[in-house]
Amino acid sequence: MTSLSDLPLRDNLVGQEPYGAPQDAVPVSLNVNENTHPIPEHVAIDIVQSLARAVTGVNRYPDREFTELRSSLAGYLGHGLSVEQLWAANGSNEVLQQVLQAFAGPGRSLLSFTPTYSMYPLLASGTDTEWIAVERPAEYALTPEGVAEALREHQPDVAILCGPNNPTGTSLDREVILAAYDAFDGMLVVDEAYHEFDTERESAVSLLPGRHRLLVSRTMSKAFAFAGVRLGYLAADAAVVDALRLVRLPYHLSALTQAAATAAIRHADAMLATVADISAQRDRLADALTALGYVVHPSGANFLLVGGFTDPSATFEALRARGILIRNLSIPGHLRITAGTKAETSAVIEAITALGPGGA
Ligand code: PMP
Repeated sequence: MTSLSDLPLRDNLVGQEPYGAPQDAVPVSLNVNENTHPIPEHVAIDIVQSLARAVTGVNRYPDREFTELRSSLAGYLGHGLSVEQLWAANGSNEVLQQVLQAFAGPGRSLLSFTPTYSMYPLLASGTDTEWIAVERPAEYALTPEGVAEALREHQPDVAILCGPNNPTGTSLDREVILAAYDAFDGMLVVDEAYHEFDTERESAVSLLPGRHRLLVSRTMSKAFAFAGVRLGYLAADAAVVDALRLVRLPYHLSALTQAAATAAIRHADAMLATVADISAQRDRLADALTALGYVVHPSGANFLLVGGFTDPSATFEALRARGILIRNLSIPGHLRITAGTKAETSAVIEAITALGPGGA
């Protein structure tokens, strides 16, 4: 049998693991920060009708510039953004990959503040980009001084600030973004995958005017309950969007993806109606776990990073055996739990309570 080591793999991929959160068919799946509420039926019907119209034209390639979808996204984000300032791809992972293809690559570097989203280093190695990991301070909150110092020292070609940060849930302050932008000459990406859950903070989109090196990345996979469609997007200066056009594959967004996403955005209010409930379940989960003696880190997202587990792997497996999937990210003593529906949240609280102190 042929194995990976028999193949002439690129050097920087040797020994790497593919991204791989488990996809078990369990009743309570809280491991990849999805919105666990199904989309409303009237929205589903409208999407299906839009898909039906689109499917009659699939003998032709789709609109390569997906202008209708970009116009919908510009309207959804507001702030006077023009179609030329919007971009989209199959998930924000693909958007971020295109950003690295355009602005990083061999001989260039990507910097971020860890622990953070585990795909950043994988996207770096996939594009032959040097990965620079700078550790976050205790309690994970970035400061303007700390961020500026790291960026001045390393002068990366691209830096990503994730706010709220996955997997810690930590919110990102505006002053940090401004200090970061002024501290280096590279492209600054603010990854706002979880922004809609952070009702206290304004989007970095409002900082775009006059800042052509600032890129704001968003996704329909989280609050928008649309992970299965794969639609991530970005707002930036029109010149940045022009640069991304140089690396995208022709017709990368299928006609069906464009039709489904455009229809869903027409129903943005209905699609986002569960956000308040999810935040309330997150806070209920935080209170319950705090009362059990766990350390719950402050979160502006739809998940919690929880410390105080004696053996996180054992707790992960014990919950998995009870049909509950959460995330073990190899942060000592910690596990990450997505806030789900009321019933799912109750199931997690009951299961962790039943495990006893330290989740053992
Ligand atoms: N950024 C962050 C911080 C994420 O947590 C995720 C999904 N886990 C993504 C980007 C990518 O999401 P998608 O490709 O589904 O848009």
